[in-house]
Amino acid sequence: MARGDRLVSSSGLLTFGWRDLLEIALVAYMLYRLLLLISGTRAVQMLAGIVVLVLAYSVAWLLKLTTVTWVLGLAFTYGAFAAVVIFQPELRAALANLGQRRLGFLLKRDERQADAAGVLADAAFRLARLGVGAIIAVEKDVSLGTFVQSGTPLVMQVQADLLTAMFARTSPLHDGAVIVRGDRVVAAGCILPLTSAPMDRAYGTRHRAALGLSEETDAVVIVVSEEREEVSIAVDGHLRRMGSERELRTYLVAREQSGRV
Ligand code: ATP
Ligand code: MG
Repeated sequence: MARGDRLVSSSGLLTFGWRDLLEIALVAYMLYRLLLLISGTRAVQMLAGIVVLVLAYSVAWLLKLTTVTWVLGLAFTYGAFAAVVIFQPELRAALANLGQRRLGFLLKRDERQADAAGVLADAAFRLARLGVGAIIAVEKDVSLGTFVQSGTPLVMQVQADLLTAMFARTSPLHDGAVIVRGDRVVAAGCILPLTSAPMDRAYGTRHRAALGLSEETDAVVIVVSEEREEVSIAVDGHLRRMGSERELRTYLVAREQSGRV
């Protein structure tokens, strides 16, 4: 009996120390970050597919269907490689994101977000007054990694002067959307998905692109119309006009706080 106890504990199965607690906490945190990263992206559909495969595998294993188990086992092995290839843009964005985060902790998140909201509102209304069209997508919980890859990736603090300059007609980056993550501009010249919803004839592709992204993700997309010199935002598949810089800033800050995870 005593010997048996020692055997079990020497194999480390029944001892539960601070290391196990730490490991459980770390793994739980990693899983949580992973789920946050993939929520709302293509990966979610794939996750559903994997769950179905795992269920099929378990059933085949229980029924001892060896050939089916073997084939599904192969699918898992090669599927892992396929996933790396399919999600290469997301993985690249996630790794880049890890690298960028470090200094961010020096400032309180609230302060940085409020600053970014003010800067974005300032830039949008400046562009509207200049009659320069623009589209700025602000990332929330759903990663815009795929869209970042469609343009020119950048690492830059949000700044009204720079944003205004980027959308000037002579700028090489003026065509397409700018993507903002937190208080950083992460890409410019990005191609966003166009909505197929019926829209007022007055709106062209810029507004269609803003609406399209807001249908697919939880991003807040700021659109400046060069024709009407006005600012709108597209959120959850709806376009609304912003009457003033203050209204836009308040909206962005409120959205940031309600969208907190
Ligand atoms: P505006 O009111 O400013 O004229 P609009 O809704 O009428 O906007 P267009 O005049 O067609 O739209 O604007 C064209 C510009 O919109 C392009 O030059 C480009 O910068 C941007 N744009 C068009 N399609 C996309 C897209 N899929 N993704 C990102 N930006 C796009
Ligand atoms: Mg137009």
